[in-house]
Amino acid sequence: MTEIDRMLEANTQWAERFPGSRPVAPARKVAVVACMDSRMPLFPLLGLEVGDAHVIRNAGGVVTDDTLRSLTISQHLLGTREVVLVHHTDCGMQKTDDQGLADLVEETTGHRPPWTGRTFTDLDADVRESMEILRGTPYLLSHEVRGTVYDVATGQLREIV
Ligand SMILES: [Zn+2]
Repeated sequence: MTEIDRMLEANTQWAERFPGSRPVAPARKVAVVACMDSRMPLFPLLGLEVGDAHVIRNAGGVVTDDTLRSLTISQHLLGTREVVLVHHTDCGMQKTDDQGLADLVEETTGHRPPWTGRTFTDLDADVRESMEILRGTPYLLSHEVRGTVYDVATGQLREIV
């Protein structure tokens, strides 16, 4: 049995306790931009329920063109008006740099990726940079953005001001 088989089986139990259908527009009008890290269960750690928020995740929780595409749709079509960024301690993005990542991929596959990894060393600085990018994005209807760092060792969220 593969992990995916286990997940399909687990879904049977989820469907039994499914809370019911919700409107497509997030009830709390908020979007979360976060790292893909497996130790961050965003809904419980932010007190969210099914239907409450959009969650946009990628490696590092960085603001990329695709993050902006999703946030633009989130705000224009689905009514969200606040964005919270969630980076975290012990992030995989701190374990190499853009050059090192591209070298690794090229060495192991023979192909150098055309995109940059968007790695970072300073968590707080990357959260601040992400907030600045979002506040300066002209396509968004709301620039109400706050940034946080989640501590994977304690479960606590620290706001970056
Ligand atoms: Zn991470």
